[in-house]
Formats: sequence, C-alpha cells, structure tokens
Amino acid sequence: MPAEIKYQRILLKLSGEALMGDEDYGIDPKVLRRLAAEIIEVQKAGVQVGVVIGGGNIFRGAGLAAGGMDRVTGDHMGMLATVMNALAMQDALEKLGAYARTMSAIKINEVCEDYIRRRAIRHLEKGRVCIFAAGTGNPFFTTDSAAALRAVEIGAQLLLKATKVDGVYSADPKKVSGAERFEHLTYDQVIERKLAVMDTAAIALCRDHGMPLRIYDMGQPGNLMRIMRGEPVGTLVDC
Ligand code: UDP
Repeated sequence: MPAEIKYQRILLKLSGEALMGDEDYGIDPKVLRRLAAEIIEVQKAGVQVGVVIGGGNIFRGAGLAAGGMDRVTGDHMGMLATVMNALAMQDALEKLGAYARTMSAIKINEVCEDYIRRRAIRHLEKGRVCIFAAGTGNPFFTTDSAAALRAVEIGAQLLLKATKVDGVYSADPKKVSGAERFEHLTYDQVIERKLAVMDTAAIALCRDHGMPLRIYDMGQPGNLMRIMRGEPVGTLVDC
C-alpha cells in the first residue's frame, strides 16, 4: 500500500438519493459510473472498501406508510429498493473492471449472496468491493444504522457518509445564511444538538464502538481519495 494511504478498510455509505444525480427518482448512470470509478481508485491504492447503499431514490417505508401502506411492508419494499441499487453499483464496478459482491441482509439467493460476516471479510481481503444490501434486514431501521453496524462488524477504520454538502452545519446552509460549518464534532454533540448527520441509533452505535465517522461532499471529484490520504475533508465525528 502506498505510504500516504491512511486507511486499510473503510465503509462507505451512499444514500439512494446520491445515485439520482439531478433526477427526481431512480438512478443516473453517469453519477453511478463516477462513484464507482472513485471507489475503484481508492481500492487500487490498497484500501478495502465496503459499501452500504440506501434506497430513498426508489422507496422509503415511512413515505409509503404516510400514503396508507402497512409500515413493515413499506420497509420491506425499501429494503428491496436498496438491493436494486446495490446490483446497479455492482454492475457499474464490474463494467469498470473491478470485482464486486452484493451481500443481502434478507435472503434473495438467486440475485445475490447472503450477508455472512466472515465471507464478507474474505471478499474484502481478496480485493472485492462488498456491497451490503437490504440494510439491517429489519423494518424500522435505516441504512445509516446498517452502515454503522457493518462498519463495526467488518472492523472498518472509518465510516464515510457521502452527501451533497461539504460537511455538517448548525442549520441547513441553503436556508439559513450564516449557518456554522463544523470541522469536528463529538458523537454526543451530534446527538445533543440533533444535528442532521445520521440517525441517533447509528451515531450511538458509532460512539459505543469508537467508530470514527466522516461526512463529506461526494459531488467534489477526488474527495474520497483525499480522505484516504488523511486530508481533513468535510466533518469528522469521533469522541
Ligand atoms: N430499511 C429498513 N431497514 C433497514 C434499512 C432500510 O426497513 O435496516 C428500509 C426503510 O423503509 C428505508 C428504506 O429501506 O426507508 C431505504 O433506506 P434509507 O431510507 O435508509 O435510504 P437512504 O435514505 O439512505 O437512501
């Protein structure tokens, strides 16, 4: 591994919305390709990469429940949406010459592998990108919680949350002029100030297991690699 690379294993959380680009729904193939290329760049530099993908670009359980659907059924649909996104990312990675495996928290064997922790770690060691689909496999959770969980399980050194803003702010910078941008926060500050970083369950899991979390702007090409080199891109959350 080149000396300047600071991490050996990371977990990258991409929201479903990250895949939409400027569209209102679904997947923008250009955005998908660019994200896949960035993942491959850091992987080629020697970093083992796990990815958790959301499903909000297709279905969210809470949204479906607001429309009258049973919440658990809606969450099942949301989890299936994450599987579709994971397959799309797997395809994009493979089209660019990388090896990737989608592993699902709900059994869907004809489509992808089941999530088995030890097998996931083996894939990572063999240089395959592991895409963790179907969140935690349980309703009433989010893919943020799944990302925190998988990061801890696979022994990642850093959990990254890719967003459309360049870090965490005290308020929405698009709505509140003068909103403060943080370079560093503690887990407890995020929870106490109810900052929109990740849901509380995810932050608490990171805190309890000392998993550092970095929130960064994925729209800025090269940011992922900069973070791998130890550059202070975005906002770091730790103890
Ligand atoms: N979901 C779930 N359990 C999980 C993870 C996700 O039930 O462990 C469902 C939930 O309905 C959620 C949807 O899958 O709304 C998509 O995930 P999420 O909203 O986290 O996606 P993102 O906002 O990251 O695109």
